[in-house]
Amino acid sequence: MAFESLTDKLQNVFKNLRSKGKLTEEDVKTALKEVKLALLEADVNFKVVKQFIKAVEARAIGSDVMNGLNPGQMVIKIVNEEMITLMGSETTEIKMQPGKSITTIMMCGLQGAGKTTTTAKLAGKLKQRGKKPLLVACDVYRPAAIRQLQVNGEKQQVDVFSMGDNQSPVDIAKAAIEHAKKNSHNVVILDTAGRLHIDEDMMTELQNIKEQVDVHQTLLVVDAMTGQDAVTVAKEFDDKIVIDGVVLSKMDGDTRGGAALSVKAVTGKPILYVGMGEKLSDLEQFYPERMASRILG
Ligand code: GDP
Repeated sequence: MAFESLTDKLQNVFKNLRSKGKLTEEDVKTALKEVKLALLEADVNFKVVKQFIKAVEARAIGSDVMNGLNPGQMVIKIVNEEMITLMGSETTEIKMQPGKSITTIMMCGLQGAGKTTTTAKLAGKLKQRGKKPLLVACDVYRPAAIRQLQVNGEKQQVDVFSMGDNQSPVDIAKAAIEHAKKNSHNVVILDTAGRLHIDEDMMTELQNIKEQVDVHQTLLVVDAMTGQDAVTVAKEFDDKIVIDGVVLSKMDGDTRGGAALSVKAVTGKPILYVGMGEKLSDLEQFYPERMASRILG
């Protein structure tokens, strides 16, 4: 993850601001126009950019900031704070369902987004937290996906439940939860089927699983490298099946940062983790504050 272009542009704007002793309203407006352009070029959602600039402007233009001791620095501080707010301020953890011996998490996403890999990565994280996860192969359309989950599960040394490709995903999920009860697993992670594009069948299947199985959390995996498309996908999933949070995969290959900056603002749902590589250990908790620091350089 290196948002070079965005970071360079923002740093230029900041350098200009810092070099000025006093700031006029015009100075601030010019600077924010450049920030706006930089964000748009980074593929941040247009509406999000507009709201962001409006929020910064409302705080930056006024006697408190402009007559202050260090106006340029103040404006930069406001940009930083608003960027953190944009990404959700707080870090969101996967919560264990209170009062339940098993927490069920459903993973969803388009094919190729990194869902199966992320499922195994997540199992590793939960194992580190002392949990005993069970991975469940609910993608009955691609035998390769079942095999991939088994291989990754083995690498992570977590159990994988599969019933081949002849049963319905709902039946598999139900049987998996029974299996988890008998084998004292406390987290069940369902790896569902992805398709190349969002379609009705896919959404109906996910809805069926949610309705018929006691799913406590629905996490969507989207590919950060697809920028605004990732955000559109997140919005559509949330509108149709309601998601609880997002994992942004392939952040290691993202050079722009648009998805990370837009997901929360567009969907209202937080980013929980970011995928930072193909290895199963390459999953990091998402910290809005750290992300803002990385972007601002
Ligand atoms: P699925 O179809 O959504 O289950 O996607 P997969 O889990 O099979 O992943 C698709 C490809 O993306 C694989 O080659 C993964 O190794 C790769 N991948 C997944 N997550 C990441 C990530 O965070 N960074 C990078 N660089 N590659 C990833």
